[in-house]
Amino acid sequence: MDLYSGHINRLVEELASLPGIGGKSAQRLAFYIINMPKDRVAKLTKTISDARENVHYCKVCCTLTDDEICPICANEKRDHRTIMVVENTRDLAAYEKTGKYEGVYHVLHGAISPMLGVGPGDIRLTELMHRLQTEDVDEVIVATNSSLEGETTAMYISKLIKPTGIKVTRIASGVPVGGDLEYIDEVTLLRALEGRTEL
Ligand code: ZN
Repeated sequence: MDLYSGHINRLVEELASLPGIGGKSAQRLAFYIINMPKDRVAKLTKTISDARENVHYCKVCCTLTDDEICPICANEKRDHRTIMVVENTRDLAAYEKTGKYEGVYHVLHGAISPMLGVGPGDIRLTELMHRLQTEDVDEVIVATNSSLEGETTAMYISKLIKPTGIKVTRIASGVPVGGDLEYIDEVTLLRALEGRTEL
């Protein structure tokens, strides 16, 4: 069905392949872009490719950063002996927004999900274990989501770390089941952190 030009069709298709963008939104965005001044379109495409080109994983905690080592890992005032394990950079940002957590992080970029075929080797666990072997760490706080995947990941991490003798804790389940950490308010996040229990 060729209602539009081939170029518009391709643009709609590309946009619709992005998460959270349905067919109608893709069409609306495509027409909006077509009508934008050319220099704004150039700026938008450059911003996208610059971000893709220049953002990489922190060599220490694996979060997304413009630098080789992210500002949190590079900050000597942070407590480097406490590592909070989160599923993604957005969860890290949620905890950072509380301004109350002084430790550092480790970003897994996912959670173990046998249903979706995501195994332990698909998330940044090797990097975490390497840190525990090479840095002085007192506590690992597992702050994965309270979804089935998050809980499975927490149990797996606990089993992995236990033999090292390092303390492993899990944030309290004041967090609604299946709730994404990034949508939870700061008070709840802090309560979950303070109420953490040893695994
Ligand atoms: Zn880092």
